[in-house]
Amino acid sequence: MMDLVIPDKVHDESRQGEALILEPAAGKNNGRKLYIESYGCAMNFSDSEIVASILSEQGFETTADFSVADVIFINTCSIRENAEQRVRNRLKEFTVAKVRNPGLVVGVLGCMAERLKAKFLEEEKLVDVVVGPDAYRDLPNLIDQVDSGQKAVNVLLSREETYADISPVRLNSNGINAFVSIMRGCDNMCSFCVVPFTRGRERSRDPQSIVAECTDLFNKGYREVTLLGQNVDSYKWKQSEAGLAKSEGSEEAGEALSLGEDLVEAGAGVNFANLLEMVALISPELRVRFSTSHPKDITDDVLYTINQYDNICNYIHLPVQSGNSRILEMMNRTYDRDWYINRIDAIRRIIPDCAVSTDVITGFCSETDEEHDDTVSMMDYVKYDFAYMFKYSERPGTLAAKRYKDDIPEEIKQKRLAQIVAKQQEYSFYRMQARIGKVEKVLIEGYSKKSDKDYCGRSDQNAMVIFPVGDNYKPGEYVDVLVERSTSATLIGKVV
Ligand code: SAM
Ligand code: SF4
Repeated sequence: MMDLVIPDKVHDESRQGEALILEPAAGKNNGRKLYIESYGCAMNFSDSEIVASILSEQGFETTADFSVADVIFINTCSIRENAEQRVRNRLKEFTVAKVRNPGLVVGVLGCMAERLKAKFLEEEKLVDVVVGPDAYRDLPNLIDQVDSGQKAVNVLLSREETYADISPVRLNSNGINAFVSIMRGCDNMCSFCVVPFTRGRERSRDPQSIVAECTDLFNKGYREVTLLGQNVDSYKWKQSEAGLAKSEGSEEAGEALSLGEDLVEAGAGVNFANLLEMVALISPELRVRFSTSHPKDITDDVLYTINQYDNICNYIHLPVQSGNSRILEMMNRTYDRDWYINRIDAIRRIIPDCAVSTDVITGFCSETDEEHDDTVSMMDYVKYDFAYMFKYSERPGTLAAKRYKDDIPEEIKQKRLAQIVAKQQEYSFYRMQARIGKVEKVLIEGYSKKSDKDYCGRSDQNAMVIFPVGDNYKPGEYVDVLVERSTSATLIGKVV
């Protein structure tokens, strides 16, 4: 059995390996076709949009068919071993294309490129270029280098790069919801996690460029933005020299930027609660979501801000990883069970009706049955709306790999995972059933996957809602839906 993912949009299983399509920038077609596919978290999909933006400026056109491409890029994930295996298998499939077209350039981008660096070129002879997540601006040079017969590598990590000035090309988009990166990297050093090594030090993007990007999306018809970072609660912007100039866009964006400017001028800087407020002020018609929150950093201020603005969605992804304090300490999560429960209680107190989802790792080094039971009892306490559940996968170079033995047998990891998956199934169903008879405000995203007689969209709490298509509403609009029944993943109802 694979790790189980109950999909929401931040790590969307249905998008793994998706190829991106874009038009070349006007008047710049260089006659070369780019094929780019992405794996892993939303941050990687968002990065592929930055790569697409950089290369469209160079005149590249994209294709969804790798067999006709001149350049193939694969944007990779290293978070678990099976994610890397998936990429290696995919690379084997590209060998066929290279045999047919010896001039083809094959590049590996993202976390695997960063983790394995130049070694990748030796391991995978097919690969010509290896580019880490902070080096995408260098892609045109690197492609030139490969064209001149050399292999090319740039895996330099940066303390500053946020690609703030690059307006991402929105790819394969429904024109309604978009991801917006607000920070990069991570300073947390959770012992199991490879991210700090592959994505470098944490840095926040300037709030002006975030508000400008969200305002631009709103003006183009988008109605939902998800602010992305590995630990959004540690967002911090202090520099005043960036000059948070008043926007020329909507009046609301002007108001948002004034708020940011006042905070910077007062020396307080812009924190995540402030940023949420600034984005929420763009328009009450623009829904704001965010991910991922960290239990050690999420403040009551953030919770009060969520509660204050109707357009900041009542949904928090708060990864617990384990319900046992000894395991949390070994994981270097810097909170314990009581702290996590305190944060859950604060959410319940400050934001009535807030959905909470989580990430769980089972079978971490030395985890006993009793310690696993603490994770189960945490699930009983919180009754999560959704969960991403994983078996521990040792990652080379991480603190856990250096310090602890990966000593839980595969069958036990599997058994524990199956137990929490079954438990989560119950609670997802319980949460969905509790919505029956309620009216949900739904942002229509498009036709449902199963039938073009139904629309689908998300509720404020991020539940997928299905309801019949009607003449008076269309994708991109909000409707009130009376929930009549549910599965464990979907609410079903009618517009009222
Ligand atoms: N920054 C986020 C956080 O702190 O929760 C998420 C980062 S990571 C991309 C997403 C999830 O992958 C983690 O929350 C964790 O549950 C899981 N994960 C990370 N490393 C793992 C490992 N070595 N084995 C199994 N699961 C892992
Ligand atoms: Fe990894 Fe921890 Fe950073 Fe999340 S907070 S990216 S789990 S190190």
